[in-house]
Amino acid sequence: MDCDVLVVGAGAVGAVAALGLRRQGYRVRVLDAGQPMEAPTGEAIDPRVFALSPASIELLESLDLWPRLAPRAQGYAGMTVWDAVSGSDIRFRAAEFGLDGLGAIVENAALVSAAQAALDDVEFGAALAAVDETTDAVTVTTDDGRPVRARTLLLADGANSPGRQALGIAVSGRGYGGRAIVCHLRSERGHDVTAWQRFLPSGPVALLPLFDGRVSLVWSADDALADRLLALDDAAFSDAVTEATAGRLGALHTPTRRFAFPLRRQTAERFTTRRCVLLGDAAHVVHPLAGQGVNLGFDDLRALLVAMPDPDVGLRAAALRRYERARRADIAQMSQGIDGLDRLFSTANPAVSTVRGFGLHLADVVTPLKRRFAEVALGVKPGFPSASG
Ligand SMILES: Cc1cc2nc3c(=O)[nH]c(=O)nc-3n(C[C@H](O)[C@H](O)[C@H](O)COP(=O)(O)OP(=O)(O)OC[C@H]3O[C@@H](n4cnc5c(N)ncnc54)[C@H](O)[C@@H]3O)c2cc1C
Repeated sequence: MDCDVLVVGAGAVGAVAALGLRRQGYRVRVLDAGQPMEAPTGEAIDPRVFALSPASIELLESLDLWPRLAPRAQGYAGMTVWDAVSGSDIRFRAAEFGLDGLGAIVENAALVSAAQAALDDVEFGAALAAVDETTDAVTVTTDDGRPVRARTLLLADGANSPGRQALGIAVSGRGYGGRAIVCHLRSERGHDVTAWQRFLPSGPVALLPLFDGRVSLVWSADDALADRLLALDDAAFSDAVTEATAGRLGALHTPTRRFAFPLRRQTAERFTTRRCVLLGDAAHVVHPLAGQGVNLGFDDLRALLVAMPDPDVGLRAAALRRYERARRADIAQMSQGIDGLDRLFSTANPAVSTVRGFGLHLADVVTPLKRRFAEVALGVKPGFPSASG
């Protein structure tokens, strides 16, 4: 046996998972098809940023990764969500949920490079090409024909997961038929350490606070609008973002290069086989409106660390069944909650928008409704600030 656990994929979820399992006493090997992630420096901020929930931050703290990220992380204690049609606002403040903060914005490159550096022995340029599972072990063959044998295979190889495909696990879900456009901009007014999200009939647009005072845009748009936005010059694009966010942060300007990624919802029909387990985007992809993609992956990992407390217990098939049970209901609930928000807000129908405006006013004052909204939109478990919440 080459190792206890073979992790395939050293992205955010796989690299942190490998660290977590090593801490619990497993012999872990990590393969990644790509090259090492470079740590971002200076003004060049990775366009892909994560809004980490308090629970995700606590997980990274427990693995001693947080100090490496903190200098480029922007904590935020407020979130304002509002509706373009009814004009209603809902404001979240960390203190009202008994939390010190609602989360922090961190670059994908900062997180992944820190986790890969802490592991120190990721085997890069090694792509999974085939998986062969027996009762007691699993063998991965890389694209250059090398076999690697492990007791358990952890697949964190992203949304298209070659490992999941090799195991023949189907996915259910749908494309939303649009793309999210991401870039960073400067704003006339400061971001006020707040995450801003406005729901337009065409989709949500969010401005997330960055550590250097800029904001990170995530604009979910249908394909026609996305094409138009991507074709604009920088000045016209900045004006479009200013208008889409109703000038809440004043004029936005000086955008970085824009990137677009498809909006989709996808859930694997199983998260485990006898010896294999899916984590992160390999298991589920959600709409980015709530910025929960990576938080759900870290929720998977926390559940896995509970199901696999040590090698004696964790390498038995029963441990993976415990993980499957723990994650199935949670993922379905979160995915439906995010879909529900998308449907509720992505319509200009006046009847719906009146109800929605009323609902937002209500949600701003009625605590249970607001708590539910916070769970879906922020990934916080109000009143339960610990990672076990
Ligand atoms: C442009 C963009 C912007 C995004 N913005 C946000 C956001 O604002 N907020 C948010 O929460 N989420 C966002 N997401 C989604 C977020 O990036 C994912 O949820 C998150 O990265 C999932 O992490 P992961 O580790 O599961 O997968 P990934 O980050 O996809 O990592 C998968 C890893 O597996 C490796 N791999 C793939 N195939 C193989 C193979 N055959 N063999 C070995 N290794 C392999 C890859 O090299 C990669 O390192 C964004 C995604 C994109 C593309």
